[in-house]
Amino acid sequence: MTDPDLAPEVALAAGLFDALRAASLDLPGVTRASFGPGEAAAHALVAEAARHAGLEASCDAVGTLRMVLPGRDRNLPAVAIGSHLDSVPHGGNFDGAAGVIMGLAAAAHRARRGLQGARDLLVLGIRAEEMCWFPAHYLGSRAALGLLPRDAPDTLRRADTGRTLADHMAEQGLDPAPIRTGQATLGREQIAAFLEPHIEQGPALVAAGLPVAVVTGIRGSLRYPRATVLGEYAHAGAVPRAHRRDAALAAVALIAALDARWQRLEEEGADLVVTAGILATDPAHHAPTKIPGHLSFSLDIRSEDAGLLAETDSWLHEEAARLEAARGVRFDFGPATHAAPARMDPGLRAVLREAASRAGVPVREMASGAGHDCATFAGLGIPSAMLFLRNAHGSHNPEEAMEMADFAAGLAVLSGALEALLA
Ligand SMILES: [Zn+2]
Repeated sequence: MTDPDLAPEVALAAGLFDALRAASLDLPGVTRASFGPGEAAAHALVAEAARHAGLEASCDAVGTLRMVLPGRDRNLPAVAIGSHLDSVPHGGNFDGAAGVIMGLAAAAHRARRGLQGARDLLVLGIRAEEMCWFPAHYLGSRAALGLLPRDAPDTLRRADTGRTLADHMAEQGLDPAPIRTGQATLGREQIAAFLEPHIEQGPALVAAGLPVAVVTGIRGSLRYPRATVLGEYAHAGAVPRAHRRDAALAAVALIAALDARWQRLEEEGADLVVTAGILATDPAHHAPTKIPGHLSFSLDIRSEDAGLLAETDSWLHEEAARLEAARGVRFDFGPATHAAPARMDPGLRAVLREAASRAGVPVREMASGAGHDCATFAGLGIPSAMLFLRNAHGSHNPEEAMEMADFAAGLAVLSGALEALLA
């Protein structure tokens, strides 16, 4: 089913994954900190492999690795493929790296076959996508595209070192000046389309028995990280039901109602996921014999549909008001964070589906629950799409398990799509 002509590039990719793992090994797993030595080692290895494959490879001021297979008209905006090369601490070898290496393998294949496109093929190794290092989402892609706040180099500090982004960039020989002046090192006008292959971070493809998925959109989120319910502490035995102001039962009622609404919406075909976490009573005051007077909790609600997120937000506040009246408690949701959903381009999705069909690779379509650099490109109006690769055991852990056969299937789809996009 997979094109045997891609075998040299699948072997190249397998060798690169091994080299990346060896260069950033930090048992259990690998550590490639944003603007740290593991990430730098990965960038150096991928750049070297790109030059060896006949691509132009360079690093811009903010650290983005650009690998180019020139097209016939170099003035046309490029078709770009990319992902990130950093990882979480003790993470897996494939989250991020799979997309960069697949882009490189697709470009290397075209270089080896002497296939010149109408426009440049640009493979991007993006910095700093994992939020665990610096408290900013899509840091590297937003730096490259000129979207970071100008004070970011001096105000963002890495969680483990406490040192500024500027400091860590300087240590890697990079220059925060373009961020401070709001300049893009990668102009949005230079990119005609952006494709990001990435391992799936949930169990859907393993469960479906499929190697590859075409992503429909990246879910946006509504989060209340520090919500609380205020009730009244009282004796567990002495107070009748009508007189209780039980913070725990009120929170549980709200979460159960949210879950029931989610189930109903899902049955109607809506895209939604809901998570409640960090449910905690105060250890200084709680006891098995006390009615809880205070409870803190978090909510994380995600959907591809911005309208549904807004409706859910209104519903939450109405439901909380109803419970306040019924149960004598007070909800305080605290600060909210919002991330807008990113729609994947319908034309690019069709190109990917058709390429999969031609390559004999069975695919499904699915939403991405996690955020990806692709959202930055899509947010700028650049037609963007993602391919998910089957991966057992989730991501952000040393057990990530992408099979090279599935990588090969994804590469066949990506190569077929490039034939269409670069013609
Ligand atoms: Zn990732």
